[in-house]
Amino acid sequence: MRTRSIRFQLTVWYGVALAGALALFGGLVWLSMRQRLVAELDEDLRGDAQRFAAYFQREAEEETASGLQTEMEEFCQGLGSSRFMRLKGDQGFAFSFPPGPVPNGRDGRSVEQRFSFGGERFILVAGTSGNEMSHTLDLLGLLLLGLIPLVALVAGAGGAWLSRKALRPVDEITTAARSIGIENLSRRLPVPQTGDEIQRLAEVWNGMLGRLESAVGTLSQFAADASHELRTPLAVIRTSAELALRRAREPESYRDSLAEIAAETERMTRMVEDLLFLARTDSRAASMPMEPVAVRDLVVEVVAELHDLADLRQIAVGVEAAEVCVVTGNRAALRRLLLVLLDNALKYSHVGGRVAVRVLDGLVSVQDFGIGIAGEDLPRIFQRFYRADKARTNDGSGSGYGLGLSLAETIAKLHGAEITATSREGSGSTFTVAWTGEN
Ligand code: ADP
Repeated sequence: MRTRSIRFQLTVWYGVALAGALALFGGLVWLSMRQRLVAELDEDLRGDAQRFAAYFQREAEEETASGLQTEMEEFCQGLGSSRFMRLKGDQGFAFSFPPGPVPNGRDGRSVEQRFSFGGERFILVAGTSGNEMSHTLDLLGLLLLGLIPLVALVAGAGGAWLSRKALRPVDEITTAARSIGIENLSRRLPVPQTGDEIQRLAEVWNGMLGRLESAVGTLSQFAADASHELRTPLAVIRTSAELALRRAREPESYRDSLAEIAAETERMTRMVEDLLFLARTDSRAASMPMEPVAVRDLVVEVVAELHDLADLRQIAVGVEAAEVCVVTGNRAALRRLLLVLLDNALKYSHVGGRVAVRVLDGLVSVQDFGIGIAGEDLPRIFQRFYRADKARTNDGSGSGYGLGLSLAETIAKLHGAEITATSREGSGSTFTVAWTGEN
């Protein structure tokens, strides 16, 4: 047993407390026994003295002096070996049994009685050396001294066994917890079905392990997806550079290669920035200054920014803004959100199509009439790096990497807004941002 374990401490405390209680109990038993014996002895001595005095007065009337002496000795002999009797008269009478000095003992007791007889005043002392009482008390003391440690020892062993039994589940939980690491977070602690604190502890730990497992899972998935996504632009950059370096080329060709490298680098930079933003909001480190923002103005600004892309794909973007829709938010972040939605609407529209943006009070919606989203993809489009297969093959999707909607959702949440998508495959999609005001 380890010296600082709860089991050891419980056993020691239990043993000490029990030994103390037993010692107190033993002491009290011994003292009350002694008191009782003393009371009984005094009672006996008083009775003996009375009987002796009566006997003496009766015999003194009938007997001669030597006969009286013998009668009194015979009376005293019947009292017991530890007893003594002294009778003294003020006119010189003296009787002493046994002859010689008073027998003395540790628990010696005596009673005194005075009486007058035949004109003489007598003092009678009846006593005992108390040896019998001492013997009885010694025996009791020995018994208690021997039994108390024995009982404490047996009870202590029982206590140790009980505490080991009670704490065994804790040991099992400790061993199981020690074997759980980041590599086997799916393992769970054994839950004893006892309905007690230990069961609750194990359940709470398992709940925590579950949360940790899903958090670690999300993080690893995120890291794996991020590395995977970064590999593509890196491979493009490397191939372009290697091809350009393979042999001497025209300056135009080098320019093309460098332009391709610059485009990929820009794509990578955007991805890394998005990742950084998401990582910051994950760790709640994002500090975004908030201010009143007129959503209508922002929509007009973003539409103007995407003018080139809309032109390229010959898409007409219509803005319907009945309200200014002023919200409290971070202008740059909200701009980003609208950029993601509008960029997607343009990317996933058919060439020559149409996009409609509506601004109402506390609500913005972006509707397109493009490829739409399949029912099975719809619940997953807000996941990080999720891209529907169709999107990958769509003409305008070259610049996407599946972080846009995840970013838009994070921004919406930070602004107390909710973003929802409705779509029919083949006929278009509508993304709606609604401010619920609970940020
Ligand atoms: P991406 O960079 O691929 O656009 P997003 O996170 O913005 O990444 O979008 C995730 C996926 O959701 C897209 O790959 C696409 O499959 C789907 N999606 C988003 N917006 C639209 C839309 N307006 N029309 C059709 N599909 C869309």
